[in-house]
Amino acid sequence: MIGSSPRDPLAFLADDLAALREAGLYRPLRVMSSAQGPIVSIDRKRAISLASNDYLGLTHHPRVREAALAAVRDFGAGSGAVRTIAGTMTLHEDLESELAAFKGVEAVLTFQSGFSANTGLIPTITGEHDLIVSDALNHASIIDAMRLSKAPRKVYPHGDVNALRAILDEAAAKGRPNGGGAYRLILVVTDGVFSMDGDIAPLPGIVDAAEAAGAAVMVDDAHASGVLGRNGRGSVDHFGLHGRVAIQVGTLSKAVGVLGGYVAGSQDLRDLLTQRSRPFLFSTSHPPAVAAACSAAIKVMQDEPELIERLWANTRRFKAELARLGFDTGRSETPITPVMMGDARTAGRFSDRLLQLGVFAQPVVYPTVALDKARLRTIVTAAHTDELLDTCLAAFDSIGREMGLIGG
Ligand code: PMP
Repeated sequence: MIGSSPRDPLAFLADDLAALREAGLYRPLRVMSSAQGPIVSIDRKRAISLASNDYLGLTHHPRVREAALAAVRDFGAGSGAVRTIAGTMTLHEDLESELAAFKGVEAVLTFQSGFSANTGLIPTITGEHDLIVSDALNHASIIDAMRLSKAPRKVYPHGDVNALRAILDEAAAKGRPNGGGAYRLILVVTDGVFSMDGDIAPLPGIVDAAEAAGAAVMVDDAHASGVLGRNGRGSVDHFGLHGRVAIQVGTLSKAVGVLGGYVAGSQDLRDLLTQRSRPFLFSTSHPPAVAAACSAAIKVMQDEPELIERLWANTRRFKAELARLGFDTGRSETPITPVMMGDARTAGRFSDRLLQLGVFAQPVVYPTVALDKARLRTIVTAAHTDELLDTCLAAFDSIGREMGLIGG
């Protein structure tokens, strides 16, 4: 064996990468050397960003920054442990009380991210005696959370309330298979705003169908927080469904501008999660700066309603202009505006050309969306000026013509 090198057990990784590149599905990470905002520095080049989820521009809001700095000064850089050991600080408890008041619920528990809120919630409150009923386009974190649960699940076609009703009525009437009796819990799970298409869940119909079958509803408002409802309270507030949606999940990483997720609902729900939820029990809590900055952001959302007004004015204008140019923006109803491109290579080329013209918008390709549904995902924020949007639209127009996608 002298001189012969051992076989590399990870050699398949290179093959997998080559296959991704061959299919046009490999996207290099773009490196941002500026703060997040409407204008960023990408790969050391100035660009107008249409790529962030920073809906209200709070990532760089002065009050949010100040709160983070003050927390570092007063409480240090890290929390030091998981919440159950020594990592629960007044900053965490205060943030949760503020969020509970904001959402109009009894209690809130925060998690390290929206992803961990879902994976910390769903497997904890569901088991083999329960049924989860999920929209086909729910977020990856919900899908992973369901995989971690022992509960069986059924998936209904995206937004199809009639199909949901049929599943729920059958589940309520027949109960568990093989004479196992009634389900302990039937949990209907939906995104509030769908993150790749920007459409809003038909929540009133979902709630009616759930109530008729004695099921509970959980809505993941990651992209509705800060966007829908009074001061950005989310989809439940938007539809006037307070008291009829048992669980709201939110993220602190998008419109709130910082990082984290939360579960909003009853005191019993919060108390049980503090005892059993694995990301809560086994992963360290937010650093003081994160909790303090989130609190400040929730206050800004209530004190400065002009931000959400500006977000929606920009959204309406950008969508209307893209449609006028001849682009297909799918079924979006919110600031998430997909610009449909079809195949992954076209989406990749369009994105690269945009960056050359100083506009940053990322392609979204398989497996995040179906193979033939590649798109550019754009989000305008409250921080974009009319002039910045003019520049973006001019770039879309010229590249669209150059690539023969519009103006034919
Ligand atoms: N749920 C939904 C519906 C989302 O869109 C996202 C983020 N893409 C998440 C959860 C995860 O949130 P976070 O980034 O805070 O982990």
